[in-house]
Amino acid sequence: MKFVKLITIIIALYCILYNYLPFSQFTGSNSIVFARENIGLTEEDYAWKRKNMVERQIVARGVRDKKVLEAMESVPRHLFIPEEFRQYSYYDQPLPIGLGQTISQPYIVALMTEMLDVDNDDIILEIGTGSGYQAAVLSKIVKEVYTIEIIEDLGLQAEERLKSLGFNNVYVKIADGSLGWPDRAPFDAIIVTAAAEKIPDPLIKQLKSGGKMVIPVDSSFLGQDLLIVEKDESGEISIEKTIPVRFVPLVEGEEVVK
Ligand code: SAH
Repeated sequence: MKFVKLITIIIALYCILYNYLPFSQFTGSNSIVFARENIGLTEEDYAWKRKNMVERQIVARGVRDKKVLEAMESVPRHLFIPEEFRQYSYYDQPLPIGLGQTISQPYIVALMTEMLDVDNDDIILEIGTGSGYQAAVLSKIVKEVYTIEIIEDLGLQAEERLKSLGFNNVYVKIADGSLGWPDRAPFDAIIVTAAAEKIPDPLIKQLKSGGKMVIPVDSSFLGQDLLIVEKDESGEISIEKTIPVRFVPLVEGEEVVK
């Protein structure tokens, strides 16, 4: 009997330790510090990780739109992430992309894409190009994506990356996106991937009747809410508050950052 107890204690200790040792597998919610995987991964390994990401992080949380799931499974997220963080590309979290900015958590990218409710003949505006990843995911679903970035370096890098990966229906502009892209307007849908103090008027103007805008906006308490803004056929606006989120701020009324 004593022997059985001893073995049970040893097994329990092993299980506890295994979770905290540096070689343990990442389980989704803890920090990225304890990771030893991903050294020298092949494209097939990444594809497998992507499939898992879609099942465990996105489908499991209720995203059902097939077009969105297929896009998330096909776009190589790791190629949009700086090399030093590449091994964490398919973790359930946002990651730094340089210059103080971040690429959103995969689930948030999928959720916002689903909320936009877009189709293959739609023309979309994105504010906050960042790495270009969200634009790439959208470009798999829609006809054209126009995306604006205020930090020149990030915008130029994203443009180059998108071109070299063959996302030929994405157009990048370096400017203050809160003014929209008037010469290409109106848009079937608009996605803003930085948090605004309030919904910028030019973006409401540049949204087509019947179109949706998905935008994080500072809430009256601390934090931000993800809003779905809909313009009906008569031009009336309705706003649905969805989930609390955390985005970098939308910089408004400033010059391009060189
Ligand atoms: N969609 C990106 C992540 C966005 S992070 C991706 O998939 O990687 C938010 C981005 O918004 C940052 O790159 C930031 O520089 C940019 N940004 C902030 N204010 C902006 C503005 N007024 N116009 C355009 N881009 C802006």
